[in-house]
Amino acid sequence: MSQKEEQNNDLMEKIVSLCKRRGFIFPGSEIYGGLAGTWDFGHFGATLKNNIKQNWWKKFVDGRRDMYGLDAAILMRQEVWQASGHVAGFADPMVECEKCKEKFRADQIPRTVLKEGSPKDRPLICPDCGGKLGEAKQFNMMFKTKIGASDDSSATSYLRPETAQGMFVNFKNTVDAFHPKLPFGMAQIGKAFRNEITPRDFIFRIREFEQMEIEYFIRSEGWEKYFEYWKDEMLSWMAEIGIDMDKVHELEVPEEDRAHYSSRTVDFEFDYPFGRKELFGLAYRTDFDLKNHKLDYVDEEEGKKIVPHVIEPTFGVDRAILAILLSAYSEDQKDGEVRPFLKFKRSIAPVICAVSPLLKNKPELVEYANFKVYAPLKTEFGRVVWDDNGNIGKRYRRQDEIGTPFCIVVDFDTLNDDTVTVRDRDTGEQERVKLTDLVQYIKNRIN
Ligand code: ATP
Repeated sequence: MSQKEEQNNDLMEKIVSLCKRRGFIFPGSEIYGGLAGTWDFGHFGATLKNNIKQNWWKKFVDGRRDMYGLDAAILMRQEVWQASGHVAGFADPMVECEKCKEKFRADQIPRTVLKEGSPKDRPLICPDCGGKLGEAKQFNMMFKTKIGASDDSSATSYLRPETAQGMFVNFKNTVDAFHPKLPFGMAQIGKAFRNEITPRDFIFRIREFEQMEIEYFIRSEGWEKYFEYWKDEMLSWMAEIGIDMDKVHELEVPEEDRAHYSSRTVDFEFDYPFGRKELFGLAYRTDFDLKNHKLDYVDEEEGKKIVPHVIEPTFGVDRAILAILLSAYSEDQKDGEVRPFLKFKRSIAPVICAVSPLLKNKPELVEYANFKVYAPLKTEFGRVVWDDNGNIGKRYRRQDEIGTPFCIVVDFDTLNDDTVTVRDRDTGEQERVKLTDLVQYIKNRIN
């Protein structure tokens, strides 16, 4: 393994371990041995996730006049997935090792283990044990389930593999309820499920994840203009939530690799420690979905029925979290030791500030810190924690790892002059701030 590969592995290990230790992300079903491809979000992870989703909704739904939100059911009739092409075509090529029986997604096996000249979807050598791999078979990634007590095939349903279809099947409802004029969009945040053959790389490839998707309905002429527009919007949001833009790259997806519904796809890839891979995607779905669901729209401007075309910006919440964690993770030297810290954007950090009495065995400090500092900040910002565990140095280290931008300490001077110490996560610098100015001081710095 090269030095760079070792450093990258090391970085992933540090992040996975920090996420568990500090209550961000835990392995799914851990006490029963774990369940591959599932992760549970602890208090700080859940808060970070909510902040990202709220920020997205604020920009793309609340911040616009042409967007209609939706929260559709995860379970839908099987006809939806037949019409969308997922029953027939939402499959990956799978190969099984004849020796160790491990299964792999054929198109994800590193090229280095392919025998020269072997086709892309049929590598020959198992990357784990070197055994012979069998024929590639198509494996449908949808989780099948049954609805109700009946056992016949009419009861079959699927856990949705994308949130998009919920928007297409509610296209007519949305048009009838809100009478939007083209172009307009529908937006939804919700869970999606894919029975990935090889879930891997922490929360990068998982079986249950969340998507934030937009279906932007347009007239077919000029789709290129909207495609470019959404590309810019996506890039500006990535920068806004603290993704390191030097690590983001656009990939024009070639026709043979595009999803069955797409006429043009640009993937936004991110330089993860395990390679450059997809973060978010932008697809021109044409009129594929509305046509297949036999839906149309009366275009008053043109005085006729048309089937609108669709530009789809799609964002994985979990991949956003991973990219943010990787962008925010930093180390520097403090007091002769390595200090790991998460340099989250202040607006999305799970904790905005931590409040501490200098000493937890001095009731006058504890009382002041609790009632005069913590309580009003908690009421104002919500994402505020009380931290009196260990000495001040330890508290700072803990809050740095959580990515808390401000640590506020009440000391003996506070009792005399009603000022507190505010310590900045990134610089470690401390400032005395008047209690009466504290809320405004933080407000000015988080937006
Ligand atoms: P990949 O090629 O990595 O499997 P995809 O092209 O199939 O991804 P899309 O169908 O475009 O992904 O899904 C939209 C978004 O949902 C992706 O850009 C990604 O952010 C997220 N996503 C897709 N599959 C997963 C997964 N298994 N785990 C986590 N996020 C996912």
